[in-house]
Amino acid sequence: MTASESDCLFCKIVAGEVPATIVRESAGAVAFRDINPQAPTHVLVIPRAHHPTVGELAAADAELLAEVLREAHQVAVDEGVAGNGYRVVFNTGAQAGQTVFHVHAHVLGGRGLNWPPG
Ligand code: IMP
Repeated sequence: MTASESDCLFCKIVAGEVPATIVRESAGAVAFRDINPQAPTHVLVIPRAHHPTVGELAAADAELLAEVLREAHQVAVDEGVAGNGYRVVFNTGAQAGQTVFHVHAHVLGGRGLNWPPG
């Protein structure tokens, strides 16, 4: 783990160097709207510290992962989607669709979500 990586897009959002629509902040995490939303609510929750994947975050700092998950739930409550249901997704690895290698929880809600996912 490193505190930040100079070539990481999400580290730049944490640092305020790349603009984002931030909806929540906590000591260890930042939540902002996805630039290409796939549902009426589509928010990304990231740790401020750089960890590439959820597995690496879990191994390095389980309490920080718990904070990311608490923030994800609070985003769903704040967005008004917790009651009807929402999904938290960690795409992990290229084949699963991960394109940004700074771990992020997708919080998706506001419409019916299919299962299994594509
Ligand atoms: P992944 O494919 O699971 O890695 O998710 C990366 C997500 O980041 C995608 O849903 C993108 O739309 C989103 N994204 C990429 N760049 C930005 C940005 O600058 N601001 C907000 N979301 C972004």
